[in-house]
Amino acid sequence: MHVRTLVRGLAATLAVAFALAGGQAAAVPSTTADGALAPRVLTYDASGAAEFKTAVNRGAAIWNESVDGVELRPVAAGQRANIRILADNGWPRALPGALGNGTVYIGRQAVNQGYDTVRISSHELGHILGLPDRKPGPCSSLMSGSTAGTSCKNPYPNAAEKAEVEENFGGALVLPTGAPRNAVIVD
Ligand SMILES: [Zn+2]
Repeated sequence: MHVRTLVRGLAATLAVAFALAGGQAAAVPSTTADGALAPRVLTYDASGAAEFKTAVNRGAAIWNESVDGVELRPVAAGQRANIRILADNGWPRALPGALGNGTVYIGRQAVNQGYDTVRISSHELGHILGLPDRKPGPCSSLMSGSTAGTSCKNPYPNAAEKAEVEENFGGALVLPTGAPRNAVIVD
């Protein structure tokens, strides 16, 4: 019990440190009434996602259906989101910050080539949740990204990808796996 409290306190301290260092909204773990670890709530702002808003909301909903450790919610008006989602004319990419924070670009270059917008959205959100690319890979893998081809419309993480995200958000002191903080992950 003592150790758990200490670990939780340390995690909160780290989250504050990230917020101070990166200027980003901190994702602080919370607990339910019975002391169990509640899903980490991360907010996202899709107001800059232009024609991809619906796809982005679907991608977020897919993660909510797929994992228990984290929940993606649209940010309330006037609040700062953990995740910013923007549309642009480049290739889709993610700029992860501290685990669960960052910016995602839904790039029209891939959309114009025929890649599925919901798969792109959940793939890029996967990077924010700490997953690296797994390329080349099959359509059953979300993080195989574009290597699965334009015919692949699967927006769901596979069992291993789900487990990795659960692990990322289940442990209080787990830092981002995958790319180093602030690196750009293209596609
Ligand atoms: Zn990727």
